[in-house]
Amino acid sequence: MLSLVVFLALLAAAPLYTANPYYIHMIGTIMIYAILLFGLDIVVGYTGQVSLGHAGLFGVGSYTAGVMFMKLGAPLWLIIPASVCVTAGFGALLALPALRVTGPYLAMVTLAFGTIIQILINEMTFLTEGPLGIKVPKPDLFGAKLTEHEFYWLVLALMALSLVVVDRILRSQLGRAFEALRGSPVASDCMGVSVYRYKVYAFVISAGFAGLSGCLYAYSEQYISPNTYNFELTVLFLLAVIMGGRKTRSGAMLGAAIIVILPKLLDDLEMFRQVSSVLAALMLVGAVVAIAKKITTPRAMAIPVVGTLALAAFSFWLESITDWRLSIFGLMILFVVYYLQDGIVGFFRKLTSRKTSRGEAYHAPSDAKDAITVAASLAGQDAKGVLLDAKGVLMQFGGLKALNEVDLRIQRGTIHGLIGPNGSGKSTMMNVLTGIYVPTAGSIEFAGRSVVERSSADIALSGIARTFQNVQLFGEMTALQNVQVGLHHTFNSNLFDVALNTPRYQREDESAIERGMGLLNFVGLADLAGEEARNLPYGKQRLLEIARALALDPQLLLLDEPAAGLTAPDIKELIAIIRKIRDHGITVILIEHHMDVVMSVCDAVSVLDFGQKIAEGKPAEVQANEKVIEAYLGAPAA
Ligand code: ADP
Ligand code: MG
Repeated sequence: MLSLVVFLALLAAAPLYTANPYYIHMIGTIMIYAILLFGLDIVVGYTGQVSLGHAGLFGVGSYTAGVMFMKLGAPLWLIIPASVCVTAGFGALLALPALRVTGPYLAMVTLAFGTIIQILINEMTFLTEGPLGIKVPKPDLFGAKLTEHEFYWLVLALMALSLVVVDRILRSQLGRAFEALRGSPVASDCMGVSVYRYKVYAFVISAGFAGLSGCLYAYSEQYISPNTYNFELTVLFLLAVIMGGRKTRSGAMLGAAIIVILPKLLDDLEMFRQVSSVLAALMLVGAVVAIAKKITTPRAMAIPVVGTLALAAFSFWLESITDWRLSIFGLMILFVVYYLQDGIVGFFRKLTSRKTSRGEAYHAPSDAKDAITVAASLAGQDAKGVLLDAKGVLMQFGGLKALNEVDLRIQRGTIHGLIGPNGSGKSTMMNVLTGIYVPTAGSIEFAGRSVVERSSADIALSGIARTFQNVQLFGEMTALQNVQVGLHHTFNSNLFDVALNTPRYQREDESAIERGMGLLNFVGLADLAGEEARNLPYGKQRLLEIARALALDPQLLLLDEPAAGLTAPDIKELIAIIRKIRDHGITVILIEHHMDVVMSVCDAVSVLDFGQKIAEGKPAEVQANEKVIEAYLGAPAA
């Protein structure tokens, strides 16, 4: 925080120690790009999507400003919010169709979008003047035209503001939703966080920042034309986020500096020599530290170190740089992609990292409240009756009937076992109940309402939570943050509450931390609140999934093989936890292969075999059933 304030103060003072307008303009451009990169990082770094449409969005921002100035003579205070809103609208336009596809297809859709924007700017001469471009003088503010320096300070102020807002968004439930859908889309949906909706939000918010950035760019350059917003720029933006380091604001600023300075650097041999020497020295020191701290091996560092040293040597051997510009640029990109996948900031973070991570601030008070609130929403509901009623459920995959006319009735307040051999359709049943699959035929009523053809997120919010047979945690998020994603439904704050840090948001945020810690405590993970989920041992990951599911305040909890891979003492603990969950009034469906677990906790058991229900009843009855013994349990040891 302090270093940030000092850094911003230094930036603010820049016009005082250099009068050279060239440098002021350059730093201003870096800050303008940084605003766009903050936004692009939301899409690329957090939600994990690729956007090649951001140069197009940047162009929309510039041209909104240009056109509003030229056609309407609109003032700055109107043009800035208009650029943000118009571009955010284009972001939605980009997101809606693009998000039906993922991966390389999404990249192509965004690329096409960027290209279409550029073509439209070029062709719509009645609005944009086409290839002639638009002249945009420095704006007026408070009745006087801004000077170069005043405009620089305006850009700085808006960048600082963007920094604060982006940071708040990313720390909030919105940021967690973005990160969750990268970690595991299916788990996001099943925690009530609609993947589709939050992908669109991410694009819209990201586009808003691109709009602000584009608008400032128009004033900064004082002239805009379609050629600027081309494919090269969009790739450069993406490169900046990756090089600087995703999921960090400092990475975005560093990335912006790199893409502005690097092309200029490669014009000036003397400067190139100095910088490559410094770079080689830094690399050498970094490598020594990294090897000493056992973060990496000498072997892994050999090529990067030799590479940068060679680059420095090469720079002194060179007599003219012009012929080599593009080759050097390309080599640097390859280098980053191969060796610095977390970007430059990510690399140095690793070097200086302490063992503890985010979330350490919330370390468990030893008397952290238990999750007694779990079933609060159920208080006053009658504890008897049928909670879930599935009739004739048929799930067909091609010719395979994974579920064949299965009926399942679950009584409120019970633990209902679902057993059967591998491939008998147990997990498929859970997927049907949680909306991941739509059944081919049959009806499912949950608490008096049909589940069929509703989205997973909607079903989750109506009270069905689950864990997964193959653990689906949000790996890069801490244990506490994982549970907080489950608590997403407790937030009513919108984007403005988050950006302005209103009392409503603060209240909800605090209570989400408190409840999250309570839930972690409930499953015995409070000490590991600040640990990234992917670093937890397997057994703990399974417990964390249960805590996250409980955060939904479910009426029905589906556990898919929770004891798989657990040690004997862990299984004992798990049995105690499952009983406690039932005692809080939550109904449980338990898929499990450990018969001792099933026999000791279940009130009723259903048995599946080849997609058909072959038996149902009290655990002891089922255990003695001939069909079940033949299909699943095998003959009891003589
Ligand atoms: P269980 O959890 O009881 O071990 P599953 O429900 O995972 O079994 O699988 C039941 C059957 O359905 C298996 O034969 C499996 O291959 C098939 N199956 C499950 N999901 C799909 C799918 N998405 N596409 C095709 N077949 C599937
Ligand atoms: Mg299964």
